[in-house]
Amino acid sequence: MTGPRLSVVVPCYNEEGCLTELHRRLGDAAAATVGDAYEIVLVNDGSRDATWDLMRALAAQDSHVVAIDLSRNHGHQLALTAGLDLCSGDVILIIDADLQDPPELLGAMLAEMEAQNADVVYAVRRKRAGETAFKRSTAALFYRGLSWLTDIEIPVDTGDFRLMSRRALDALLALPEQARFVRGMVAWIGFRQVPILYDRAERLAGETKYPLRKMVRFALDAVTGFSTVPLRIASYMGIGLAAASVLLLAYTAYGWLAGKAIEGWTSLMLVVVVLGAVQMFVLGMIGEYLGRLYLESKRRPLYIISQVAGRAGGRRAHGHVATQADTIATSDTPGGIGTRPTA
Ligand code: UDP
Ligand code: MG
Repeated sequence: MTGPRLSVVVPCYNEEGCLTELHRRLGDAAAATVGDAYEIVLVNDGSRDATWDLMRALAAQDSHVVAIDLSRNHGHQLALTAGLDLCSGDVILIIDADLQDPPELLGAMLAEMEAQNADVVYAVRRKRAGETAFKRSTAALFYRGLSWLTDIEIPVDTGDFRLMSRRALDALLALPEQARFVRGMVAWIGFRQVPILYDRAERLAGETKYPLRKMVRFALDAVTGFSTVPLRIASYMGIGLAAASVLLLAYTAYGWLAGKAIEGWTSLMLVVVVLGAVQMFVLGMIGEYLGRLYLESKRRPLYIISQVAGRAGGRRAHGHVATQADTIATSDTPGGIGTRPTA
């Protein structure tokens, strides 16, 4: 049985509790759909636990596994980008390490891709088990706010769990930006993209790697990366305040004429406080864009790879690979998707 060559890309941060089970289930799902022609690209995003040791062991024992070790924690989206850069399949599956997204959906996704002649099959969460009400409500708010703010249609309730064709991935990798909101960028590239529904499971082990701080940053990257509406808010507020100031002017003139000019401490305070808050808010927003502009202008590599175990193909378009990064384990074959030894 030969199907398309498949790459599965998994960003991992402190996932020692999930890796073994992930490898088993992914391997089974891949073997069941494409036979031997697959690779599993595991990216270690500067974990502090045994994640890298486990990855190396997996790469040594299974030639389907490519393990990439980043030099530090670069964040989910950049770790993902590193894996996407280095993978070499014709179809690419993006999945989280914690098995919240079932690898077994792969077969259905591939079938959907062929049936619909699609370039992207994205998985939409029907249910989210084992996540806090806070996480679910902020996520719901985020996806809806985002679709209101942006012109492109970023699918609601969709993570990075998706299947992509090689030409869609190449289009994605052609985007150079530093602040990467991958699911939005995939929506931006276009082609035929179709949804598939699934139930999100609980995390297999460990806890979420997205504390509130990272969630806020992620949301700001999404908004600033895909919309300039917040910048326009400054103009809208300016227009609103200008209109209000005409009324206030009339009121002030009336007060002066009526001899009540000394009163009005409350309204004065109100105006000072509101104006101050609006100005700070707008300044902050401009700062968010300016800061990103500054970071983009440095043109730094998006990630740094310190070592690779297993056979990695791919183009490494966005990163820096440390010299001798490839010296670990089996790298005598120059790259490409491994086949399981028949012994
Ligand atoms: N992750 C990563 N680097 C980070 C944070 C997260 O590579 O700095 C990975 C993590 O290991 C997982 C995926 O990104 O595979 C999604 O993270 P998580 O499951 O914690 O997010 P949640 O599902 O809670 O939104
Ligand atoms: Mg998760």
